[in-house]
Amino acid sequence: MIKKLLSVCAISALCAGVFSSCTEKKSEAAIDGKLSLVTTTTYTADLARVIAGDKVNVTNLCGPGVDPHTYVATVGDVAAIEKADVLVYIGFGLEAQLDKILTGMKKRGANVICSADSVRAHKVIAVDEDGEMVKDPHIWNDVTIWSDVAAGFAAKMCEYDPVNAASYKANLAAYQKELVELDIYVKARMQEIPVGSRVLITAHDAFSYMAKAYGIEVDALQGLSTATEAGTKDVMKLTEKILAKRIKAIFVENIANPDTMQSLIQAVQAKGGDVKMGGELYSDALGDEASGRDTYIKVIKGNAQLIVEALK
Ligand SMILES: [Zn+2]
Repeated sequence: MIKKLLSVCAISALCAGVFSSCTEKKSEAAIDGKLSLVTTTTYTADLARVIAGDKVNVTNLCGPGVDPHTYVATVGDVAAIEKADVLVYIGFGLEAQLDKILTGMKKRGANVICSADSVRAHKVIAVDEDGEMVKDPHIWNDVTIWSDVAAGFAAKMCEYDPVNAASYKANLAAYQKELVELDIYVKARMQEIPVGSRVLITAHDAFSYMAKAYGIEVDALQGLSTATEAGTKDVMKLTEKILAKRIKAIFVENIANPDTMQSLIQAVQAKGGDVKMGGELYSDALGDEASGRDTYIKVIKGNAQLIVEALK
């Protein structure tokens, strides 16, 4: 690991000013001998903790319930990113406001793990947004994709920290077994919803990977990013859909303002329809410990339960 840190220092020496804290980084890492990982979202932080366990120190930027689409790095975040041994992010534009700094770090030779790089080409979903094809970053909502992301993460960690490779591989193998069970669980639960009722309506378009993997149709008021605004047209369009398909419930998200979904319910009711709030889905961030949704597995399971109970 010391060798690795020295090589990062050598690279950073070429980048005037950027890694001025390199000496400090070496001494920090030497205190407990662990690599420091900076993750951008609760999903990547959870993955890092599961696979890298007690071998690394994890600092996460967008905490529980925080929207990564609009998150802007603080001065402290930038310092943490610059000092990190490894940076881990989702990619496909999810962390829109952090993209520049992450790309910059990659160019400077830092160890950067982009989760989206592990998505097999045939599984990538691209959406036409105003005439431009945009890759959907919500890759965690297909459990088989997340399993590939875990494998990609573990492979990179073995490369950066070969001393602990056996531990990363063992943790990956155990986790992938749990993910196989989770995938089977979600598939089975979705079957409980009558075919005609398998329509999931949410605040923003975060569930297309779930739709594709588990045979459910999705629609949302906003596009792929929460940064897009929902207009009257979007509300009208979804109102018609809810009425035509007699959809029983729609859902709010933990990272989005619930008001827009309330106005959708009111619009449906004004037209004589009957739709209720199905509950709060965890979309782009995990919850805190008290929420009981503080891990990836708990969130995927909890979301599936909520969807099935409200729509079946
Ligand atoms: Zn999103």
